Amino acid sequence: MPDPTTLLDLMRHAGTPETAPFLETGDGRRISYGAMWRMSAQMAHTLVDFGVKPGDRVAVQVGKSPEALILYLACFRAGAVYLPLNTAYTHDELDHFLRDAAPSLVICAPQDMAAIDALKIHNQPRVTGLAPDGSGPFTALSEGQPESFDDQPRGPDDLAALLYTSGTTGRSKGAMLSHWNLASNALTLRDLWRFTSDDVLLHALPIYHTHGLFVATNVVLLAGASMLFLPKFDPDDVFRLLPRATSMMGVPTFYTRLLDDPRLTRETVNSMRVFISGSAPLLAQTHDAFRERTGHAILERYGMTETGMNTSNPYDQDRCAGTVGFPLPDVGLRITDPETGTERPQGETGMIEVSGPNVFSGYWNLPDKTHEEFRDDGFFITGDLGLIDTDGYVHIVGRAKDLVITGGFNVYPKEIELLIDALDGVMESAVFGVPHPDFGEAVTAAVVLDAGANLSVADIEAALVDRLAKFKQPKRVLLVDALPRNAMGKVQKTVLRDTHASLFKA
Ligand code: AMP
Repeated sequence: MPDPTTLLDLMRHAGTPETAPFLETGDGRRISYGAMWRMSAQMAHTLVDFGVKPGDRVAVQVGKSPEALILYLACFRAGAVYLPLNTAYTHDELDHFLRDAAPSLVICAPQDMAAIDALKIHNQPRVTGLAPDGSGPFTALSEGQPESFDDQPRGPDDLAALLYTSGTTGRSKGAMLSHWNLASNALTLRDLWRFTSDDVLLHALPIYHTHGLFVATNVVLLAGASMLFLPKFDPDDVFRLLPRATSMMGVPTFYTRLLDDPRLTRETVNSMRVFISGSAPLLAQTHDAFRERTGHAILERYGMTETGMNTSNPYDQDRCAGTVGFPLPDVGLRITDPETGTERPQGETGMIEVSGPNVFSGYWNLPDKTHEEFRDDGFFITGDLGLIDTDGYVHIVGRAKDLVITGGFNVYPKEIELLIDALDGVMESAVFGVPHPDFGEAVTAAVVLDAGANLSVADIEAALVDRLAKFKQPKRVLLVDALPRNAMGKVQKTVLRDTHASLFKA
């Protein structure tokens, strides 16, 4: 392990000049590296004033703004554990995260402060507000603070972030990521993808997820590069700014949307060096169409919340469509029999297992679950099925747990099934994903009603609105007579997926 081992120390070590640009927003607001250090110092003082101590969790559910991103660094400076939460989560869902993680401070949209205060979490965290435009009580308090701060020393194995993944049992698990997990992965990716201070990254991803937060942001920070920072993927903004960018990271949906737009030409991407895709499978046909239209072979990589990035297509050699490339230089990857854990020969499909400095240390408060998902020799069982071809490229074949990935977000069917099954008049349900031209997959629910039940599709949809983030709500609810089952009585989701494959055909 080299020294330094934390993102902040590595950033200092890189010595990016204070005047170098750090980010520019869609409406032209500019923040230099110097300003970023000063703002993060001021915010770190405010965190301390709120009583945040090293090791404390700071839960953050706020819209994407430069302040929100700098708050992430401020948490590290104060020695706190950063806990980002999807802005789509409802108060019901938030209640679970806050009880589980027991943060000492919650930073949310100003209009949500009262509701979060009212959740009556046992350790009663302090609550403050940060609006999507970067204003709010937290910013107001920070503006009066000193512009320098003595960072709390943190070691490589200290906890840096807690990121919740969806759980197959319906319960989300907090993945514990250390400073070295984050820093080592960012160093590897920076070098592999050749990021330098000349790079300008078009950043249109959310920053509560490993992709936009760690992959995109940390690589930029360690390269001393800059970003064009958009609140979301808006084609008009993206096409306006693309001529000034050198690089973009996105989910496959970004690329299908770009391809749908006649403005995507070789001229618009003239300044671009690399397009990177991940978080869900990029169809080979999308890869091919993009290459034909722009001359760029999208570089696909594979990772997950628990591990950061594991594999990547190469920068110089062939970027092979439909594959996620090679294991990263410091990542061990093997394919095993999902039942026995025995390694499988090259070319055979099995469970993808990984080890390396990027792999998390376990799930927060869940030692048994952690134990189940690691082999004795330290390999993490990803839950993804895949194979390694004769050239060494890794292919993701399927998701062991029937995860649905819609617009780059993971949806675990079980969580939704539990809510539907709990409705009066519902006998049972199965939630699955079917192809969708825009979202990749669409969450779909097949529901069997009790005999004589007087429940409509609209009733079921209405019952889910306040219980689930919008991206998890089924795009279609189908009333069916029975669910298809195999001889063992297990619901056959493959049959459901096949039967309803054309539901969203354009
Ligand atoms: P998350 O924890 O939200 O980042 O989701 C991780 C999951 O997304 C992985 O376990 C994979 O199932 C899936 N995933 C990520 N990248 C890819 C990719 N390039 N191709 C296919 N699936 C992917």
